[in-house]
Amino acid sequence: MEIEREQMEVDVLFVGAGPGNLSAALHLMNLLNAHNQAVEKGLKHGDIFPLDEMMIVMIEKGSEVGAHGFSGAVLDPVAVKELMPDWLEQGCPVEGEVEDDAVVFLTANRAMKLPITPPPLDNHGMYVISLARFCRWLGEKCEEAGVQIFPGFPGVKVLFDEDQRVIGVRTGDKGMDPDGNLKENFEPGIDLVAKVTVFGEGPRGHLTTELERELGIQKGKNPQTYEMGVKEIVELPEARVAPGQVIHTMGYPLSLQSVGGGFLYGMTGNRVAVGLVVDLHGQDPCIDAHRDLQKLKAHPWVAELLEGGKVVQYGGKALAAGGFLAMPRIAFDGGMIVGDAASMLDGMRLKGIHTAMKAGMLAAETLFEGLVKNDLSASQIETYQTRVRRSYIHEELYKVRNFHSALDNGMATGMFKVGFQYLFGLMNKDKTVSEDHLRTVEISKMYPDDSHIDQLSDGIKYDGELFLDKLTDAYLSGTLHEEKQPSHLRLSNPDQCAVCWRLYRAPCTRFCPVEVYQMPEDVDEQVEKRLAGLSIGPDTPRHGNLSKAFVPAPGEHDRGVKDGAPSVPGQQWPNQLLHINFTNCVHCKTCDIKCPYLNLTWTPPEGGGGPNYTMT
Ligand SMILES: Cc1cc2nc3c(=O)[nH]c(=O)nc-3n(C[C@H](O)[C@H](O)[C@H](O)COP(=O)(O)OP(=O)(O)OC[C@H]3O[C@@H](n4cnc5c(N)ncnc54)[C@H](O)[C@@H]3O)c2cc1C
Ligand code: SF4
Ligand code: SF4
Repeated sequence: MEIEREQMEVDVLFVGAGPGNLSAALHLMNLLNAHNQAVEKGLKHGDIFPLDEMMIVMIEKGSEVGAHGFSGAVLDPVAVKELMPDWLEQGCPVEGEVEDDAVVFLTANRAMKLPITPPPLDNHGMYVISLARFCRWLGEKCEEAGVQIFPGFPGVKVLFDEDQRVIGVRTGDKGMDPDGNLKENFEPGIDLVAKVTVFGEGPRGHLTTELERELGIQKGKNPQTYEMGVKEIVELPEARVAPGQVIHTMGYPLSLQSVGGGFLYGMTGNRVAVGLVVDLHGQDPCIDAHRDLQKLKAHPWVAELLEGGKVVQYGGKALAAGGFLAMPRIAFDGGMIVGDAASMLDGMRLKGIHTAMKAGMLAAETLFEGLVKNDLSASQIETYQTRVRRSYIHEELYKVRNFHSALDNGMATGMFKVGFQYLFGLMNKDKTVSEDHLRTVEISKMYPDDSHIDQLSDGIKYDGELFLDKLTDAYLSGTLHEEKQPSHLRLSNPDQCAVCWRLYRAPCTRFCPVEVYQMPEDVDEQVEKRLAGLSIGPDTPRHGNLSKAFVPAPGEHDRGVKDGAPSVPGQQWPNQLLHINFTNCVHCKTCDIKCPYLNLTWTPPEGGGGPNYTMT
């Protein structure tokens, strides 16, 4: 059915209200406003005209700016100082300046503070912030400057012209039932047609993936690899971690063969952010960051700090960790990419806010120059790539480009290599890497005895206060989705999950930080029956290069097992083995990245759905 859509023409469109795009839009408006004032006062000469009727528009899938803002977060203030030299006087919400930081190595029962903090983790002079609050503040500054922000509007499709020039973005439809039929309140998405579109979707963006498919922006680069982090805000009975105090942990509960670590960042109001980052490039089919976060809190040294505490907010999100070697083409005809979507996170320092902001400002300068010259051609837009190459983003990312590959065999050997590289600049050879989902090994290779899998959760006692199960934590993320809509988590082949259970024990049922995926209690029996009647087997090839074999549209139910009816909301296929409770999804994107068969595709749900972070 052809749906009639409104078209709206704008000058510049920003997709995603993260720190990258918010800085871009604010810097652009500041440049335009200064230009217009100078023209009005007759201070500019030559072929100069005012740019006072510009439509600078930003869309954001969250219900408000900052609602999907999730990070650590220790802010390197280098970019915000450039954007707004009097940022603190202008009321930027910070939790505290870092004056005290430490790295602590944990074994199962002991803690050893490293005598010196390794330079990449030295955070003196940085600031602990909540990204959710920081983005809200930046959003207000943008609106004051004249940016038109539309929260609750996800971009669902990139619009191209006949020459493959990006000409804008389609926003999502509202008011479809789970089968894809139009409800009475149906509102079609709008086609936002822009002279230039700036993509700042963060990690694993839905539209950024489409850009790769259509324009091949990742060609010649490493595929992007990811980590994922979960974090709880814990309210303590008294201030035991000072606002701005930073503690990083290494070791327990992660094994020395895996990569990642914990953090505790002191916040105002006797609060502390307690988080854990795990590597999605690892081989373990049983990764579960939420489980390991609970174990971290139960460690005697951490437990003493958190005693009597109560979790008040929770969330999770992926991080694009591929760095310089995975950086896509960030400028093309009609568009630019900033921040995590452009692989600008410094994995060694676990910092990407300042690089995203700087990239945004460079994108703004490219746009401003083009608008003044009345030239937004591909060659003008491509100067953004050069600006990034000449900036501290390039310098910082190039230096640490082999950080992740040095850790390929785990933290134990990796940290020596990394230290050596850092001190003497001897980088291991640039390495091509495989996609994260292809790295997962079969369960029998990692856990020869099934009882080892149960032991992974040993020692966790949920108490409803400091130790919360996934569903209680999901509630504390403030997540809401309209229930009567098609599931935004699209399962390509329902039968594949039976094979996956046999070989990998369905990793999505563990790595999802809010338990969206569940298998029925009699899963072993059902898998037995299904595999007996199906022609697919353990040798079924896994897809590569983000080429999803088939992504069903809403209402597409023709390939499931035919002898039953859909039983659970969110199921797409009749008698689907895997239960999908999409309403809990916090948009972390891990399932889109780490399903061993790329069998799940994350798509933007109806606008405004998802978490409602206020402190993360
Ligand atoms: C656990 C964790 C800890 C971290 N710690 C730190 C730290 O201490 N210091 C640091 O500097 N960095 C840290 N980072 C990284 C940092 O958060 C990111 O590098 C930074 O947020 C990237 O900014 P961005 O603007 O590129 O994207 P994001 O912050 O991801 O923002 C993207 C925005 O776009 C919206 N969006 C996405 N797709 C669409 C769409 N299709 N339509 C409309 N809107 C869309 C999203 O809802 C979101 O609001 C951490 C990250 C994590 C996950
Ligand atoms: S969705 Fe992916 S990870 Fe989950 S059971 Fe199916 S194939 Fe396995
Ligand atoms: S369903 Fe996928 S994107 Fe949503 S929270 Fe779970 S793993 Fe993350």
